[in-house]
Amino acid sequence: MDAKLLAIPLIVSMVAGVSADRVRSTDTALVGFGTRNDFSETTSTPTSGIFGARDWIVKQFDAIAATSGGRMTVRTDDYLQPKTARTRRDVTESSVIATLAGDEPGRTYIISSHYDDCHGDCTDGTGIAPGADDNASGVAAVLEAARVMAPHHFKGTILFVCFDGEELGLWGSAHLADELKAENEPVLAMLNNDVIGNSTGGNGVHEADAIRVFSEGLPAGVDAKASNLYGSENDSPSRELARFVGDTVPAYVPHFTIRQIYRADRNLRGGDQESFQADGFTAIRFVEPHENFVHQHQNVRVENGIAYGDLPQYVDFGYIAQATRVNVAALATLALAPAAPVKANLLLKGLGYDAKLRWTPSAGATAYEIVWRATDASMWQHAKNVGDVTEATLPVSNDDYIFGVRALDGAGLRSPATYALPARERP
Ligand SMILES: [Zn+2]
Repeated sequence: MDAKLLAIPLIVSMVAGVSADRVRSTDTALVGFGTRNDFSETTSTPTSGIFGARDWIVKQFDAIAATSGGRMTVRTDDYLQPKTARTRRDVTESSVIATLAGDEPGRTYIISSHYDDCHGDCTDGTGIAPGADDNASGVAAVLEAARVMAPHHFKGTILFVCFDGEELGLWGSAHLADELKAENEPVLAMLNNDVIGNSTGGNGVHEADAIRVFSEGLPAGVDAKASNLYGSENDSPSRELARFVGDTVPAYVPHFTIRQIYRADRNLRGGDQESFQADGFTAIRFVEPHENFVHQHQNVRVENGIAYGDLPQYVDFGYIAQATRVNVAALATLALAPAAPVKANLLLKGLGYDAKLRWTPSAGATAYEIVWRATDASMWQHAKNVGDVTEATLPVSNDDYIFGVRALDGAGLRSPATYALPARERP
């Protein structure tokens, strides 16, 4: 990349505030509820079951909200989930949402996790389901991000979310995504955290300095024929968000690899980001680099000398803290920088040797940067600041490169890139 991305002191201080000790205490407190299975909702007590855990999460957010100068509010999104083919009865769902109001209307960002869990039988509300990695790790990251961010002001509004009902069908996230869509909430990005606590895989590989970011290829409703024609199949909004994470985070979390995985989720798996993608929102998912399937969705037991179960001793709290820093760096940049241009086009007017781009202005932007890369490159390779304009021409072949536009402000903060969709310009 030609343009060096600089760290902003305010974001540096937020990232530095992330504590592995607090992450550990959140994770172990959640495990302490015995189970967070959806079907423990009727038998929950203040110290056990899923709604004991929910009430504890609400209490943590309430304490964090007290540091926000009245800008953070906490609520639950409750509804009755009807019986499905996988379940034997209706069940009450209750996601926890803390909203940190931004200073400018019209932009909302989400950091999420799910707090329900499963020990193999996802409808058994009576067994022991520790869920230390899946997904107390994600909840610990969301609460810790809220702690370090709530005292600060952002342009965008931020939702810190702990979903219910992920394990049985992404219920809580689908319910909230539908609600936000119906209300025309301007959700520009969702960072979902699910299984981010393990630094040693079941294959024996240890890697504590990397995280996987999953991004979908073709967004909902895309015109596959046009996408094929223009070669835009690798530039969904989710993928631009994933690239933004890859370009932004190294300035704040050095010596840590953002590993791009260009698929919606792991094979045979899914997550809450998919509920948001289905409703047309831009979303990505973070996952630890190497999973251990003996410690996911397993009854706690020893069998043939193998210890099964999702227990805290298999979680690396220092690693969760690093994953949290990744989230805070990306989320704070998104909510402080100008928003990406709503629309950008690569204007095609006859054949030529250069590239002419036009884009919509972003509020608060003081300049724009055109980024480009070879068609077979994964990440943006070049960037050129073209000043405070909404149209520019570069002496770069429009046939051989893919283009995008980022909005910049005076502090050097950058938005994600908006893919420049090729469009015919009438002579
Ligand atoms: Zn999960």
